[in-house]
Amino acid sequence: MVVQFGKCRLEIVQGDITQQKVDAIVNAANSALAGGGGVDGALHRAAGPTLMNETRALYPEGCPTGSAVATTAGRLNAKYVFHTVGPVWKGGTSGEPDQLASCYQTCLELAREHSCQSVAFPAVSTGVYGYPIDLAASSSLKIVRRFLIDHQTPELVRFVLFGEGAYGAFARVLESMTE
Ligand code: ADP
Repeated sequence: MVVQFGKCRLEIVQGDITQQKVDAIVNAANSALAGGGGVDGALHRAAGPTLMNETRALYPEGCPTGSAVATTAGRLNAKYVFHTVGPVWKGGTSGEPDQLASCYQTCLELAREHSCQSVAFPAVSTGVYGYPIDLAASSSLKIVRRFLIDHQTPELVRFVLFGEGAYGAFARVLESMTE
């Protein structure tokens, strides 16, 4: 599904984030930038050791929740990986929505800084971190839509959702945004 905001395209697809050909791929990392399961493990495996070498050298302190840092992308079909740290879901009253929005906002600012015109995001925090998919879809799409309308860049933002459930949740929210 595709929605256009001015000259920017917001896409949602079902698929594997490691297979995307874009300027920047976003990783759902942990605050130690230590690698792990899910998107993080898959991206490190597909990219090769470059990612870990760079995150260790450039960001030895890790990355706080709600923020993001950039590395090159090793063997991935991208120029950069933006490692963002989503909030762990604790019921929704511990600032999780603002922290999740901040992940997307920071990655889109990094895209501007690094002149990236296409960015692929996973559904940050909705795996091991337990953020309910419907709420994550709503917050994530809302902040990205706002950014695209305000800045008219990057030209393409693609959410790559793993499985029908996640895709359906994002599709329902995106449909409601076009009404
Ligand atoms: P977090 O720790 O931020 O919750 P996860 O990596 O555990 O991150 O999961 C984030 C989301 O990414 C989940 O919805 C999960 O199903 C999905 N996911 C896992 N592997 C992939 C992949 N290879 N491509 C796209 N999405 C993936």
